[in-house]
Amino acid sequence: MSEIEKLVEVSRKYGGDSKYVIAGGGNTSFKTADRLWVKASGHALATITEDGFAVLDRALLNPMGEKKYSSETAVREEQVKNDLAAACITKDRRPSVETSMHNCMEAAYVVHLHPTLVNGLMCSKDAEKTCGELFPDALYIPYTDPGYTLFKKVYDKIMAYRKERGFDPKVIFLQNHGIFVGADTVEEIESIYDNVMATLEKKVKPVPEGEAPICDCVSETIPAIRTFLSRSGRGLKTLKVTNNALISKFVESKEAAAAVMKPFTPDGIVYCKSEFIYIDHKGPEDLVKQAEKKIEAYVEKRGHTPKVLLIKGIGLVAVGSNAKEAKTVTEVFEDSMKVAWYASFFGGEHPMTARQISFIDNWEVENYRRKVASSASKGRVEGKTIIVTGAAQGFGEGIARELIKQGANIVVADLNEVTGEKTAASFNEIAKANKAIFVKTNVADMDSPRRRPRGNDTRELRVRHQHQLQGLLLLRQSRQPCDEDRDRQ
Ligand SMILES: [Zn+2]
Repeated sequence: MSEIEKLVEVSRKYGGDSKYVIAGGGNTSFKTADRLWVKASGHALATITEDGFAVLDRALLNPMGEKKYSSETAVREEQVKNDLAAACITKDRRPSVETSMHNCMEAAYVVHLHPTLVNGLMCSKDAEKTCGELFPDALYIPYTDPGYTLFKKVYDKIMAYRKERGFDPKVIFLQNHGIFVGADTVEEIESIYDNVMATLEKKVKPVPEGEAPICDCVSETIPAIRTFLSRSGRGLKTLKVTNNALISKFVESKEAAAAVMKPFTPDGIVYCKSEFIYIDHKGPEDLVKQAEKKIEAYVEKRGHTPKVLLIKGIGLVAVGSNAKEAKTVTEVFEDSMKVAWYASFFGGEHPMTARQISFIDNWEVENYRRKVASSASKGRVEGKTIIVTGAAQGFGEGIARELIKQGANIVVADLNEVTGEKTAASFNEIAKANKAIFVKTNVADMDSPRRRPRGNDTRELRVRHQHQLQGLLLLRQSRQPCDEDRDRQ
């Protein structure tokens, strides 16, 4: 069997096992002295083939750990993405966002997963301490925002470990995230994983199993709740109701639910969002009334519908745009409940902090902006000059930045001079032959037939071509970030 065939085999083995990875997460790699094969975006480990791996030139990847990138998150991530793309030999396959971490581990094979049991420890109060006791040779990395910052921290820690001990760590634990295992053979990878799992299993009690009843009122209450979630502009929703011994433990009271009311990992936020609704109630009528109030308040606050409702007597209610999505939300949230269960044996759960959550929330909005901009302009903006109103910051800035990347000249039209100049300068850092300038503009004075956004659930974006001022290109999108095409980690 060739090395790549072995990589495919080990990827499928763990990818197909929900104890190790759910919702298509995780990634794997193989490397020689000058080439790296790493899972490409959009491929799931469970079904991956050789074509699911991007091949990269390590001579171009190696300097990335020491290179100086911009201190501004968005600019830096763009620069890193460009460097990754430049190192990629298979241009049709985009390498995983965690490629750099795979490259900086010395071992030939690297398998990165989010096993439920491992995250029980990684999302617990005693994570670091217990890790040190149970796995003294492993490297523990405290939570770090994903992207280049995380890679840089892992890189620096590996370099320090190597210097101190003269060899590389085989196991890297990432707080509130998962685990990387590296070894020169697939057999050793498997034996390390077996050992990690067996060691942790001894410290916990198994997750409660078995059925739990669902209140009869479900047939009248859930359809009503569905109509609230599907109200105008929100799209038709599919709800999936699940209850079992584990779920019922967490939904029985507000206090019990508190253990799962905050997200544990960035991946969890991607699928279930960062806020959930809990409803205790006095009967069907009260439940429906409360549900409506809480859903409306949630949408008002967050600009999108909730993905998860925990309802006493009913269980976990997962919300999706279709059955597949509702199923994924169910799987991911049930996994969080298992993580909370296991964490209770390591000093109790340790969710992400408000700041960490808000970084991921913004990152999500960022991806959405990128998508809106790219669907608006694919290949049509290069060399054109576009005035983007409100482009100094926020939503407009995100759109304009995407357009600059696609080769457009941008007029940053905004009232805010200081931020506007700064934004234009940051655009010029990533511009190629194109250019950005700032022009102080009061949008309220502009002669626009549709000045104001209409409706609560939509945002409007005005993109004007300078030579075509009458041809107003108007984009209307639901404010809810799209759920497909995510870059999984
Ligand atoms: Zn990951």
